[in-house]
Amino acid sequence: TIDLVAYNAALSDEPFEVNKAFHQDPDPRKVNLGIGVYRSEQGEPWPLPVVQKAEQIIHQESDPSRHEYGAITGDEDFLSAARQLVFGPEDDGNRQELARVTSVQTISGTGANHLGAMFMAKRFKPTNVWLPEPTWSNHYTIWDFAGVKCRAYPYYNVNTQMLDFERMIEVLSTQAQRGDVIVLHACAHNPTGTDPTKDQWEQIAETCQKLRLAILFDSAYQGFATGDIDNDAWAIRHFFRRKPAMNLCVAQSFSKNFGLYGQRVGACHFAVDSSSIEDSVRSQLAYLIRAEYSMAPSWGAGIVKRVLLDPECYREWKQDLLTMSRRILKMRSALYSTLIELKTPGSWEHILSQVGMFSYTGLSPAQVSLMRQKHHIYMLKSGRISLSGLQPRNVVYVANCIDSVVR
Ligand code: PMP
Repeated sequence: TIDLVAYNAALSDEPFEVNKAFHQDPDPRKVNLGIGVYRSEQGEPWPLPVVQKAEQIIHQESDPSRHEYGAITGDEDFLSAARQLVFGPEDDGNRQELARVTSVQTISGTGANHLGAMFMAKRFKPTNVWLPEPTWSNHYTIWDFAGVKCRAYPYYNVNTQMLDFERMIEVLSTQAQRGDVIVLHACAHNPTGTDPTKDQWEQIAETCQKLRLAILFDSAYQGFATGDIDNDAWAIRHFFRRKPAMNLCVAQSFSKNFGLYGQRVGACHFAVDSSSIEDSVRSQLAYLIRAEYSMAPSWGAGIVKRVLLDPECYREWKQDLLTMSRRILKMRSALYSTLIELKTPGSWEHILSQVGMFSYTGLSPAQVSLMRQKHHIYMLKSGRISLSGLQPRNVVYVANCIDSVVR
């Protein structure tokens, strides 16, 4: 058996390494399908129009306190808006439920995963944390650092190119221990682009409830799976509303859905199974934050707050999300239809059925290496490509190169 922690820790830097190699390659045909960031049709970074608008408003206001220290747990207005994005709007039906949730600002999704792991490790003392196989490799690094034993549950079946649902439930049911933590990707699973159906989510929730697992939802792509933020939060909201209540943590990132990668905007939300311990959750989180970074940065969170609280900006943001998700969908179908036209050996339906920024192509490590050496196309060893690296001008080239390496 391989050492999963060491294996994934090594992979954890891979997108950055691939990105660097791409930039050093002088070949004009080169294509970067490695790193998970959105790019325009011209292959350029795309600062969201609504983000630029909010930045301008904030600049114009020139509030003299804008660079002051904030609260340890973060900006409450930002957190309230972020929480409602995850768990649904605070209306009469949801107000009492939302009161069970403690939210703190974090250093983006990575910081939220880390804080969640540190907190859950201390509070629930799990024997294991269960991570999907495969997963975002940093999950291993983060949980290993938190001192919890990492175990893998079957998630993706490379032969069927589908969710390995039965085996997932079977392994969890027979091997997970009461009080263990399970990490689930809220939507647009990284790296496979394969999400459970609603029916499967219900069965997963039931299994977690039966086994008394604590749940950490990693939510880094809300709005990217379907272009609709409510749809993309369906699984989290389903778990949240089930009775009896489960211990649920959500690690929320605004890197992708606001294009604020370097600003490090995120939140960690805890819904505990009893409201009486809410205060102790907040003070434990504040303790961890204070010891590590005192408070999360304020600038990017200020932009997100502005957009989420201003009805006009909010509408524009949803439009920007559609612009990004539709472009990615267009590239999915262009890649798929070109492979079909070329009669490329193998089945390629998974490219269409997978969701979000990534596609798990099924290319082997040797084929991935050929793509790079021979065709200057950069992707991860796992065969994962970021569809945002595809453009109308390179998609036919990429399809032809895939065709040539699989023949
Ligand atoms: N979780 C998953 C599954 C991700 O893919 C990412 C980004 N690659 C993150 C968390 C964290 O990203 P960030 O720290 O930029 O929010």
